[in-house]
Amino acid sequence: MGVRDDAEAIAPELVRLRRDIHREPEIGLHLPGTQDKILDALEGLPLEISVGTALSSVTAVLRGGGAGGAGALGGDALSGDALSGDAKGPVVLLRGDMDALPVAERTGLDYASQTEGVMHACGHDLHVAMLAGAARLLAARQRDLPGTVVFMFQPGEEGHAGARHMIAEGVLDAAGQRPVAAYALHVASAELPAGVCSTRPGPMLAAAEILEVTVRGHGGHGSQPHLAADPIPVACEMVTALQTLVTRKFDVFDPVVITVGTFHAGTVDNVIPDEASFLATVRTFSPAARDRVRESALALLGGIASGHGVTVSAGFRDGYPVTVNDAAETRFAARVAAELLGEERCLAQPDPLTGAEDFSFVLEQVPGAYLMLGACPPGADPATAPNNHAADAVFDDSVLSAGAALYAELALQRLSL
Ligand SMILES: [Zn+2]
Ligand SMILES: [Zn+2]
Repeated sequence: MGVRDDAEAIAPELVRLRRDIHREPEIGLHLPGTQDKILDALEGLPLEISVGTALSSVTAVLRGGGAGGAGALGGDALSGDALSGDAKGPVVLLRGDMDALPVAERTGLDYASQTEGVMHACGHDLHVAMLAGAARLLAARQRDLPGTVVFMFQPGEEGHAGARHMIAEGVLDAAGQRPVAAYALHVASAELPAGVCSTRPGPMLAAAEILEVTVRGHGGHGSQPHLAADPIPVACEMVTALQTLVTRKFDVFDPVVITVGTFHAGTVDNVIPDEASFLATVRTFSPAARDRVRESALALLGGIASGHGVTVSAGFRDGYPVTVNDAAETRFAARVAAELLGEERCLAQPDPLTGAEDFSFVLEQVPGAYLMLGACPPGADPATAPNNHAADAVFDDSVLSAGAALYAELALQRLSL
């Protein structure tokens, strides 16, 4: 039987695993319950398993018995360390993230979260089930597998840079040699119909950083602003000036998004406070724009503050870099997806997504591709269904076998090149 049929056969188990994880979501880098469920699901498979120390990650290595492929994609000679002649063959990494979000679930599903205020609202529960399924499918083919597969079960995608921690703990060297390619799938509760996949070469998701700003003036009586140095109008001016910066200083075809998400100052109506502070998320789609926005935003804020005789402390907290899909790996992955799901169910994504991903840290070191997989429930319109991170977002289980098969085929076919 083919991978797709085998995946269909284990679909009920994948649904069960996914729903178990959905019922007991965990946030951040420490997800002991989710880790246990993964270890249970991998039990008995011929894998070398290690767990993280700084985070509750699971790394599983499956070593094939077959002779290795060259590890290079067609004539592109993609990877300098192509492993031709090495009997162990090349290494491919597959990644699934594990963490949930601080969202109070409102789906009404019978397997809804049992943990108050925590929900798998980004579908990472599906990623875990699909990746565990792929481990099953590939383990069954171990003897003929022409190389090694690293399964990267990763906590802390939602703002905790779990991928960076796993890289620091050696996930990219788990097989003893670097992967020639890395792939990640991400489900979407809206925008794409169930089972439809989309990707693009080059920038796939934005870089995201946090801009932290505190304006310091001097407080006083609200009726006598001339005797104080009021930080509030200065901070307000900064908020609007940042929008002008975006539209006047950056190429519309290399866009920048700055959104001020918090703004705090003062206590009562007639007291001028000492300080005003705000936080903004800053999204860019190229390393050049990312560098330039840092420099120009800080210069702008400093100029506004000094013009009004107050001081400002501002800085960027490191976030996630741009997620860049390798062109050749993306072509390869799209072809595999089209063969598996059908040509009409594999779309070329026109623009990058404005969200951000810590798989970007992996793709900084290993060429690879990140693909979206539609999981919009039947009967819902992908254009209007609640999207990822919404309290009523529903991800359809029917895509689990397709996702597991896609992970497995990506590894299988990439190792066979
Ligand atoms: Zn998310
Ligand atoms: Zn996500």
